[in-house]
Amino acid sequence: MDVLVLVKYVADVDNIPEDAWDRERGTLKRNLLRMVANPLDDRALQLGLEIVYGSEGGRYNPPGHDLHSRAPDEGRVVVLSMGPPQAEEICRRALAHGAERAILLSDSAFAGADTIATARTIAAAVRKMISDGVIRDPLVLAGMQSPDGDTAQVPVQVAALLGFPLIPYAAGWSRSTGEQTRGEAEQSGLLAFETLQPRGRSTLVLNRAPALVAVTKYLRELPFHTTLDRMAAAAEADITVWDRYDLEMPEADLGLAGSLTRVVRIFSPEKKERGAYRVEFGGERNPLEELPAVLRELEEFLRAGGVSEGDASQGDASTSKGDAAAETGSRGPAAAENGAGSPAAPPAVPAWYQGECAVLCERDGQEISAGSRELLGAAASLAETLGTRATALLPGELRPGEREMLAAAGADHILSVSPPTATAFVPEEIAATVVDAVTLLRPQILLVPASLTGRATAPLIAARLGAGLTADCTGLEIADYEGRAGGRQVTYGSVLFQTRPALGGNVMATIVSLRGRENQAPQIATARPGVFRELKREAVTATVGRLPAVHPDNRVSPMRPGGPGVSGDPDVSGDRAVTPAGESVHAASAPEEKTLDECPVIVSVGLGIGGAENVDLLARPLVRALEKSWGVAVGLGCSRAAMEAGYLPYSSQVGQTGKTVKPLIYIALGISGAVQHRVGMEKAGRVLAINSDGEAPLLSYSDYVIHARCTEAVPLLLKLLDPE
Ligand SMILES: Cc1cc2nc3c(=O)[nH]c(=O)nc-3n(C[C@H](O)[C@H](O)[C@H](O)COP(=O)(O)OP(=O)(O)OC[C@H]3O[C@@H](n4cnc5c(N)ncnc54)[C@H](O)[C@@H]3O)c2cc1C
Repeated sequence: MDVLVLVKYVADVDNIPEDAWDRERGTLKRNLLRMVANPLDDRALQLGLEIVYGSEGGRYNPPGHDLHSRAPDEGRVVVLSMGPPQAEEICRRALAHGAERAILLSDSAFAGADTIATARTIAAAVRKMISDGVIRDPLVLAGMQSPDGDTAQVPVQVAALLGFPLIPYAAGWSRSTGEQTRGEAEQSGLLAFETLQPRGRSTLVLNRAPALVAVTKYLRELPFHTTLDRMAAAAEADITVWDRYDLEMPEADLGLAGSLTRVVRIFSPEKKERGAYRVEFGGERNPLEELPAVLRELEEFLRAGGVSEGDASQGDASTSKGDAAAETGSRGPAAAENGAGSPAAPPAVPAWYQGECAVLCERDGQEISAGSRELLGAAASLAETLGTRATALLPGELRPGEREMLAAAGADHILSVSPPTATAFVPEEIAATVVDAVTLLRPQILLVPASLTGRATAPLIAARLGAGLTADCTGLEIADYEGRAGGRQVTYGSVLFQTRPALGGNVMATIVSLRGRENQAPQIATARPGVFRELKREAVTATVGRLPAVHPDNRVSPMRPGGPGVSGDPDVSGDRAVTPAGESVHAASAPEEKTLDECPVIVSVGLGIGGAENVDLLARPLVRALEKSWGVAVGLGCSRAAMEAGYLPYSSQVGQTGKTVKPLIYIALGISGAVQHRVGMEKAGRVLAINSDGEAPLLSYSDYVIHARCTEAVPLLLKLLDPE
């Protein structure tokens, strides 16, 4: 089997040099950022090397250093990258690690491509590689996302455009698939991938290639190794470079010109510095005299429901609101800000888009998920501004109580659409029904929860509809757009301005989807749970309807599938090559912790807690003591570094790639306060940080600081909370 690995040349957003910041404008100078291979693509390459060449004693078995020595019928690992000429560096690195060939897509016309224009270019290259015989029936592997954009869109959209079955969130693999299918799989050499599912994990068997598998960091890591010979051969190797002419793509489909979204503004994330009250351990005052007052003030704040004197706005979350008007000449942006709604004057320019504001709702277990309900609030606010309806698209039949719940959350109209039939989460299934629904309904906006399911489904939907998609929005506003589009000056009324973190959360970008409308497609945005506020409307009702199922033969959408430059209908819903192998074979990941979203108080641990054992010795007792003393639910969260160290499961992670939480009180134990963590907790009413480093970034975002080691401070707090 041939394996094609997609490797992206990305900015190292974890290590930004000081001089790369333009402090005045609050942006980053991209040319000063260090560039590296996307770490998840490295995992994909490791997986490809293991699948094709096998491994022994913890090492891969790639062929000798003569990079073209393989017989034509043997499987091979080839890498494909798209980027500036300097991306050759990561191609050579992949060759040194065992890949046999590297192809780089590089052309000034590719610059400025959004995710769909990138996916379209990569898909064209994969088609060419297959037709030129570079690879046969490839298994395409890629990291699920990269740290710079973190959208998780490109691999999904490449699969959609090529019509390849997709396995997202691969967290493990084997040639066998558990009791039921092991013999079968071993005999036929089938590959089985363990994938992350909304609840737990499932094993999906790949029974034909080509296909695309997007990997997560949970995949077992078998580190790279190389030899001097291989490094020397890689340094000398020919890297094939393809440009727009090799791919035979029209310029209108490439780069900025071929993008369905456009960045209209880049700015600094909102800074909410708080004046911290500091308790110093080892200082002149005895902490035992100061800590009771800290606990008392926090408890008073909690009892007052998050409002304290002279501080009425605390605890009332607000998103970072991009001032789109300033940049575009737009008038009176009306924001769907935390579902609060802000009635706006009717747009002066006639609305460019028509139709409803739809939300793709999902269930979390038996209930409509919190993320869906929050997005309905955002949709209701946008719909009010636009003079249209907020519509909930609900897979399957309406269950008792759901009509009231959806109406209270903001839905004016509820439409049930065909439910998925597979037992495991197969994104193509959901995407196919939603594409049908959108084709019939023609909404102008489609909002999708950025859950595990939504993040894999929305890019498929967008690719099939030729629609622009913005992931992980933190602000949604309606404003008129005045500026360039399609090479000319335009004015469009009532466009959705979508604001999201970019470059690993170091900057914010406001984005519009203009070209999608030419495909009669909606503006699609996703948002993570916790970003918008759930509406709780009373005495409201919603109309209910059902969208008819569309027979696969009749799925001839008036919208062009895949957007311009793509020939053929990528039939991702037909002849499914991915078959769920039974129910979740692993138990759902530790559902022991309380749902963070619902807890008014959260104790959160970082690496500074000093080990998993201290989570049990310090953090959990603190949770219990606070619950007992304050009588409220206290959740246990963590930083990504703590999650990666295995202290707590992913479901507890707070931050950009975890949960966004809005508790009244957030207690951070040994968390440095990286921007990616802060965006997940900055809406907390009060922050108490315990840190041994008096300069840790989180401290300027905290209301109370205990400058001490966790092992010193937490036992004192425990003693004060529960003297017995
Ligand atoms: C694309 C992307 C997305 C990301 N998403 C997230 C996300 O969702 N959530 C997230 O949290 N991170 C995320 N990160 C990672 C983030 O950049 C940081 O690496 C991470 O938040 C650091 O976790 P930490 O604070 O626990 O660890 P560290 O940064 O190592 O900080 C540990 C802190 O503990 C303190 N400390 C040490 N010993 C003690 C002690 N004995 N007592 C008290 N304090 C002590 C130290 O002074 C330090 O401040 C993301 C990164 C990227 C690139």
